[in-house]
Amino acid sequence: MDILTCTAHHPLRDGSVDLLGAVSAVTGAMTRVNCGGARFLVDAGRPQGADARHWRFPDRAMEIDALVLTHGHNDHVGSLPEMLARGFRKPIFGTRPTLDLAALVVADGMRLSGADPRDIDETLRQLRALFHAVDYDAPAQGIPQFAGTFALREAGHILGSASVEFRSAESRVICSGDLGRPGTPLLRDPNRAWASDAPADVVVLESTYGDSDHGHVTAELADRLQDVVLRALKDGGHILVPAFAIGRTQTLLYLFNELVESGRIPRIPVAVDSPMGLEVTELHQAHRELFDAPALAKLAAHDNPLDFKNLYAVRRTADSFRIHEVRESMLVIAGSGMCTGGRIVNHLKALLPRPETCVLFVGYQADGTPGRRIQDAARTHATVQLDGADVPVRAAVETLPGMSAHADRSELRAWLSAIPRVQRVALHHGEPGAQRALAEFLQR
Ligand SMILES: [Zn+2]
Repeated sequence: MDILTCTAHHPLRDGSVDLLGAVSAVTGAMTRVNCGGARFLVDAGRPQGADARHWRFPDRAMEIDALVLTHGHNDHVGSLPEMLARGFRKPIFGTRPTLDLAALVVADGMRLSGADPRDIDETLRQLRALFHAVDYDAPAQGIPQFAGTFALREAGHILGSASVEFRSAESRVICSGDLGRPGTPLLRDPNRAWASDAPADVVVLESTYGDSDHGHVTAELADRLQDVVLRALKDGGHILVPAFAIGRTQTLLYLFNELVESGRIPRIPVAVDSPMGLEVTELHQAHRELFDAPALAKLAAHDNPLDFKNLYAVRRTADSFRIHEVRESMLVIAGSGMCTGGRIVNHLKALLPRPETCVLFVGYQADGTPGRRIQDAARTHATVQLDGADVPVRAAVETLPGMSAHADRSELRAWLSAIPRVQRVALHHGEPGAQRALAEFLQR
């Protein structure tokens, strides 16, 4: 088995696999797979943060017969508006939730960049006309020139996420997409049942956490969350949880449902203060058939795992501001996850100076983000710049690791080991250091 890092071109007997994005970076995934007489693009990502600086949309990404989306995160679908603007009119395949999420994420991105509402509607109309929803493990139809099959397999990363498997008479290619952690209660585990009748010529594998093990199991999360909430309640202030709208917000709701309904924490009001977070939660409710066994068991017992008494949806901005006036303790889930914008910023400005407030981080805070600055400032009781204002950090700041939506290196290895006779692994979607570390780890 050859394991290649930071390498774009991988030949096949009847074509090639070419990484057009995320070759040596985490964001901007875009992989071209040519085999069986057809040309596919897997994901239409857009680099974010520092990766975006010198980026230009690759022309070769337009020379395709179909686009396949692995999941609805912005760094996998963010180039859709640009492709449409360049005249792309080929079919776009994905699971139903992935296509729905892609539409939400594209609209949100256009809104944030100040697009005219009519342009957003037109983009969504064009996208919906191209969308082809495919079920997991069902061969996708609709590419006449393709002498082969392709299918989507569960990836367990977010709702609807998939790996893509292409088979032609001469080649077999598997693109992992982003892989989730096995053992989470809401989402099913990544697929481990691969057909053993043919070798896998190329596996394109994500490597976001290729250099680390998360070091704890998801089952411990509820215990840790309970500790933090009970401690914060003693102080009597609000608990602010900055969280991404897709995935993280729903995982939190699942855990709170469990803690509240089993009586492990008191029934304090919990507010989802994020229009996007609410829409994505509704999408989860509409696709309960995709939930994992523990969540399905709750449904069978007439307990909606994402809903409980005292859970409030905050839709209007005016209502969001009124949260500061509530006297009793409240738990507020709001975006964005790294405090770079969104409603969480107003809450932080108002409540960080109060020592009774608790800020609970449930995700990695990247260097240079307000979230990281708050974590740093909390240690020295310093101030933090938010929206141009100097805000003193008197609140308690807690971090709950382990809620990652990405597999760690041991979980990546376990996923790969289930695929028969892998000839070549093309690592992507990871920093160069993480890719090299993962290659070494897999070779060991
Ligand atoms: Zn993702």
